Amino acid sequence: MADKFFLEVVTPQKAVVSEDIQSISAPGSEGEFCALKGHTTFLTSLKTGAIRYKDASGNERILFVSGGFAEVLPDKVTILAESAERSQEIDLGRAKEAQVRAEQRLRDKAAEIDIIRAEAALQRALFRIKIAGTH
Ligand code: ATP
Repeated sequence: MADKFFLEVVTPQKAVVSEDIQSISAPGSEGEFCALKGHTTFLTSLKTGAIRYKDASGNERILFVSGGFAEVLPDKVTILAESAERSQEIDLGRAKEAQVRAEQRLRDKAAEIDIIRAEAALQRALFRIKIAGTH
């Protein structure tokens, strides 16, 4: 069995994950990264997307994540995210409503700043919908 190391995922609202894991992959802003115990130390910002990890018993887990940073140390990964939810915590109806609102704003040809915000909101909604469908 793979060596275990610790994963902590925290948002301004709550601690989402705090447990031993066997492996993790996450959407770094420079690209997807994977880590096992003993990984070299590095720090990266995060994009919107999915964090996948194997828990201590080898079960595959998936989280939605948006924004923030990941710190990888040989025996611990810490993720400080703007928002993060376990797949089963995602409110699918809310995400679909967010998708409709964002698409409406994009159709309205708003000012550039609103388009950037609407595109980011749409991306969050689409990832939430995809990840909610995985459990
Ligand atoms: P909304 O417009 O529905 O608020 P959003 O993408 O703007 O969506 P965020 O800013 O990413 O929302 O998150 C705000 C808070 O609401 C966070 O605590 C996040 O975990 C939670 N959240 C947002 N959408 C969902 C969802 N579909 N299911 C569960 N929690 C959600």
